[in-house]
Amino acid sequence: MQTFDDIVIGAGHNGLTTAAYLARAGRRVLVLERSDHVGGASISAQVFPGVDARLSRYSYLVSLMPRSIIADLDLDVRLVRRRFSSYTPVPGQPGTGLLVDNGDTDATRRSFATVTGSDADHAAWQRFYDRMGRLAHRVFPTVTEPLRSASEMRSLVDDDELWSALVERPIGELITSTFTDDTVRGVVATDALIGTFTDLDDTSLRQNICLLYHLIGGGSGDWDVPIGGMGAVSGALARAAVVAGADIRTGVRVEAVDPDSGVVSWAGGEARGAMVHAGCAPSVLNSMLDEPIDTEPAPRGAQLKINLLLTRLPRLRDTTVDPAAAFSGTFHINESFEQIQSAFADAAAGRIPRVPPCEIYCHTLSDRSILGPGLDDMHTLTLFGLHMPPELFVSPGARDRAVEATLASLDAVLAEPIRDVIAVDTNGVPCIEARSPLDLQESVGLPGGNIFHRSLQWPWAETDAEIGTWGVETRHPRLTICGAGARRGGGVSGIPGHNAARYALER
Ligand SMILES: Cc1cc2nc3c(=O)[nH]c(=O)nc-3n(C[C@H](O)[C@H](O)[C@H](O)COP(=O)(O)OP(=O)(O)OC[C@H]3O[C@@H](n4cnc5c(N)ncnc54)[C@H](O)[C@@H]3O)c2cc1C
Repeated sequence: MQTFDDIVIGAGHNGLTTAAYLARAGRRVLVLERSDHVGGASISAQVFPGVDARLSRYSYLVSLMPRSIIADLDLDVRLVRRRFSSYTPVPGQPGTGLLVDNGDTDATRRSFATVTGSDADHAAWQRFYDRMGRLAHRVFPTVTEPLRSASEMRSLVDDDELWSALVERPIGELITSTFTDDTVRGVVATDALIGTFTDLDDTSLRQNICLLYHLIGGGSGDWDVPIGGMGAVSGALARAAVVAGADIRTGVRVEAVDPDSGVVSWAGGEARGAMVHAGCAPSVLNSMLDEPIDTEPAPRGAQLKINLLLTRLPRLRDTTVDPAAAFSGTFHINESFEQIQSAFADAAAGRIPRVPPCEIYCHTLSDRSILGPGLDDMHTLTLFGLHMPPELFVSPGARDRAVEATLASLDAVLAEPIRDVIAVDTNGVPCIEARSPLDLQESVGLPGGNIFHRSLQWPWAETDAEIGTWGVETRHPRLTICGAGARRGGGVSGIPGHNAARYALER
């Protein structure tokens, strides 16, 4: 049997990060990936037959990847900052919208005044994000260090009022007490619900954790466009691992792990690792173990992802905004506070939301390198729909119905139907790809379609025993979680991948 210092299960971007760090430290590393390509949920793909557009198929923006990881591994990863962070047509009044322009505070203030009728919410917005920025600046550098206690983190944050509102009470309270306008409240609230099926008043505070992860990235909370698409990020990590000597094998589905001996088995083969690192979801790892690790038993996602290729950008009902500005940031559709709460109520009752809340963004306005020759006027559009849990997709035709409802929601803010500008592939079929949580479970191995492998966890120790650990350890000393399911995992970050490597190197 072949032996290695480390065996990594799953070549998602985190597994690749672990492999790159460990191989660069001189260890013999084997990576086993069940699909025929690396990258997991961080890939680019030519989705539409005969059309040379390489879309970020699943994840699309980068915020949480520390610059230190890019530097440590000499990654050729280039990220572009977006000038417009968001555009939101006012629900029911789509001729008016809120444009947040990071390059022009006055224009942003005027936009708030038009939408809300006063300057109050703009002033509140600035105070809210300044305060969150200070918190992010203090919390984010700790994510690649051993875990601190909650009380140590609270002192570090040094804003007891914010800590209490963010960490101890449902975030709906802070949002409604800070902002008066339903549209503005919704723009803030959506960050709490990405891939997270809950409502804003949930006392479990899962929505608060989700919001925190969306605001701390890079110490600023900016969401940047990866040049070349998300495949460029995992491609760079795979190259770093291979150049350092890691052996990456695709088409190998691991079936069993013996954490005592380090033997990892698959159909027709086995290998032994002094350490084993699971880049797959913890609940997937449990299916390989005799003695399961402690984790959320049945994670589930809550989103509908739609990829579109357009012949041109559609015209907007709001003629005061340049579509190139509106589509380059995060474009919120029917995501007011009230609308997301009622969409949750619909979905929780087992119905596709009557007006699906969703957000879209156009990669090609920031980076045209993903388009091949001949696609000069075309644009890609990524749509991420909220409150679409897996149980809504069980009945035949459910995905088509969800897509129709979502595109109708989008049409409400356009001056022409989106279908009029959707390109066709070489077979004459419209370039629309939709992925429900069940599809993501099947194609990427995300349990219940959960984009973070499981519910996100606070980025500090929640028990005394965890203080000083890396958040990747399991009950088996030779077995780590190096993927999104570790504490401080979730999103395209490489953080758990880095932390699992640090744990292994320190042992
Ligand atoms: C639709 C969608 C949109 C998203 N948008 C964003 C975004 O814009 N920005 C962001 O930061 N995050 C986003 N995310 C979340 C982010 O993509 C993931 O949290 C992250 O990519 C997880 O990376 P990972 O390496 O931990 O795991 P994965 O990417 O899930 O990789 C795990 C790998 O393990 C493999 N595997 C599973 N079982 C086995 C087995 N038995 N044997 C061998 N291999 C196995 C899988 O095939 C997979 O390649 C999004 C996710 C989705 C699905």
